[in-house]
Amino acid sequence: MTPSADLLCCPICDALHRLDDLPDGRRARCIRCNTVLGTGKPEAITRIVVLAATSLILMTIVVFYPFLQLRQGVFTSKASVFDTVMTFSSGAMAPLSIAVGLFIIILPVTRLALLVWSLFPLSIGRPPWPGASRALRWSEVLRPWAMAEIFMVGVAIALVKLADLATLTMGPAFWSFAAIVFITALGDTQMSKHTIWTALDDSTR
Ligand SMILES: [Zn+2]
Repeated sequence: MTPSADLLCCPICDALHRLDDLPDGRRARCIRCNTVLGTGKPEAITRIVVLAATSLILMTIVVFYPFLQLRQGVFTSKASVFDTVMTFSSGAMAPLSIAVGLFIIILPVTRLALLVWSLFPLSIGRPPWPGASRALRWSEVLRPWAMAEIFMVGVAIALVKLADLATLTMGPAFWSFAAIVFITALGDTQMSKHTIWTALDDSTR
């Protein structure tokens, strides 16, 4: 089958639309369910790449810098995300350690790296790197499994419970992680699949 550039299926309700070239800054919405189908902004690609690259850099801070510090009298305890992941690394809880590491660090990093790999050359007007479309498809497959924000919700609940028991100080990793959650959400709002895939298609021709 050959892809049709002007026919577009709504990802939510499956309504089929005929989509002409969109002027810059305009959005096309589904006539049935109002989902955004495409944006007329090629800059959206640059924005996605910049946001993904920023998150990748912040991720290095998340892994290696202190996340939280607890103080209770003379007792002080510091923990990084890496320590948190390694807490359950031995015994029967080891699979939990692997799962936490996978969902909050490895999968989000993989997804961000795939996004940068597939879209960075487009953002500077170059032909895409090999495997760009496969990388982009995998970044979409991984999206539901990258659960950094769910980890942050868990941390927030734990903080409320701990606040009465000890003095808590948030480390640089905590703020980086919060920034990543925000930046990822912002990046996802820029992800008009139709715009990105059409740009990738056009650049390989
Ligand atoms: Zn729809």
